[in-house]
Amino acid sequence: AMQADELKEALLEKDRAYLWHHITPHNDHPMIVASGEGSWITDMDGNRYLDGMSGLWCVNVGHGRKEIAEAAAVQMTTLAYSPLIQSHVPGIELAAKLNDWLEGEYRIFFSNSGSDANEVAFKIARQAFHQRGKATKHKFISRHRAYHGNSMGALGATGQAQRKLKYEPLGVGFSHVPPPYCYRCPFGQTSGACELQCAQAYEDAIIWEGSDSVAGIIVEPVITGGGMLVPPDSYLPKLREICDKHDVLLIVDEVICGFGRSGQKFGHHNFGVRPDIVTMAKGLTSAYSPLSATAVSAELYESFKESGPDSHFRHVNTFGGNPVSCAVALKNLEIIEREGLVERSALIGRRMRSRMKPLLRHPNVGEIRCFGSAIGIELVEDKETKHPASATLVAGIIADCKARGLLIGKNGDTVPGFMNILTLSPPLSSTDEDIAFIIDTLLAVFGAAGGTSEEGMQHEAASG
Ligand code: PMP
Repeated sequence: AMQADELKEALLEKDRAYLWHHITPHNDHPMIVASGEGSWITDMDGNRYLDGMSGLWCVNVGHGRKEIAEAAAVQMTTLAYSPLIQSHVPGIELAAKLNDWLEGEYRIFFSNSGSDANEVAFKIARQAFHQRGKATKHKFISRHRAYHGNSMGALGATGQAQRKLKYEPLGVGFSHVPPPYCYRCPFGQTSGACELQCAQAYEDAIIWEGSDSVAGIIVEPVITGGGMLVPPDSYLPKLREICDKHDVLLIVDEVICGFGRSGQKFGHHNFGVRPDIVTMAKGLTSAYSPLSATAVSAELYESFKESGPDSHFRHVNTFGGNPVSCAVALKNLEIIEREGLVERSALIGRRMRSRMKPLLRHPNVGEIRCFGSAIGIELVEDKETKHPASATLVAGIIADCKARGLLIGKNGDTVPGFMNILTLSPPLSSTDEDIAFIIDTLLAVFGAAGGTSEEGMQHEAASG
């Protein structure tokens, strides 16, 4: 045990000295994760945690899949690398497979990350309009609260102030409309009894920007990272109509919602729309290897070919679509199909949704929102005013879950004071016992949290 402690202390020292963590403040010391199996990860001290967010919404088939490791090893020793300037077998097979999954005809452009995939979408959309003699169409309209990536274009499309401040100016040509957020309707409407002003806002923005200047709109089927905002059923179909009317491309970001998370193969399948461009990453490989894809409708691709020999897409990405990542993705998709994990996602989502209902009796639980097996729990200080719960309360609940062996997430990050949505997105392969553990832990934490939350609020009131 002494040796293990010394080893850990030495690692922590190196961590503090050399490693720059993502997002985490400098003075925090995250745990060192050592291994993973199924829905569980183990830290260096041997503590086990249920990975309730599948890492960052991505390890959808669970940890420790040996057959994926084997597929990677076979591909590495057969052909570790060849750029997609040429072609290779796993790249071809994966592009064909994605067409099956998309249930439509698409051309697939591979990259490494969700951010990359969105940049490709923006560049292809702009070039497509150039080729059609409509070069003035270059703008993109996104939504407040949306997250579309960390690079200058994708961050431009992002609608979360806290992630953008200090890095501006970002890619130009991006503007934002209010999100479909029924719990706090930006238009003051009552859920279910409105005319979808949030969708109409998109058309208004296109008209005000000048439809001759707008190339596309980008949406996630459900805003995940910005607070799990599930739109009314007719929202996406209405956006599709608006896009058709104004010759604007509908880009759907499936980086989180894709590959079964939503309870269907892709999030947009829940709404019966056909996007012009679909971007995907995370669940494509269940994070076993970096890979992303931009699927472009066959019509859009044809419009490039018809524009002549000088009309190819001048975009290369060294690692994008490398054979190893493609082989990993193929094995990942094979597992999802063989184990019926799309259906499993819908089932575990329904189960969590129904067994979490008692949480709504808790004074700080304002609303629970679900999309397949992705869940958001909006915490408020007061159910009447809907004032967002304090950072102390949110952090306390997350810490309590962690102390009981459950890792959950939080988001909503857009303006200060609104980091008040707890998130859950467990591996789609979670066993019945795993799901029971998640629910029982949450019920216990919220059962115990009533007193804690009042203390936290009094403390806030006293200090404010
Ligand atoms: N789009 C969405 C909806 C995302 O959630 C993310 C990442 N959280 C991205 C794009 C960017 O993906 P990546 O981190 O792989 O660049």
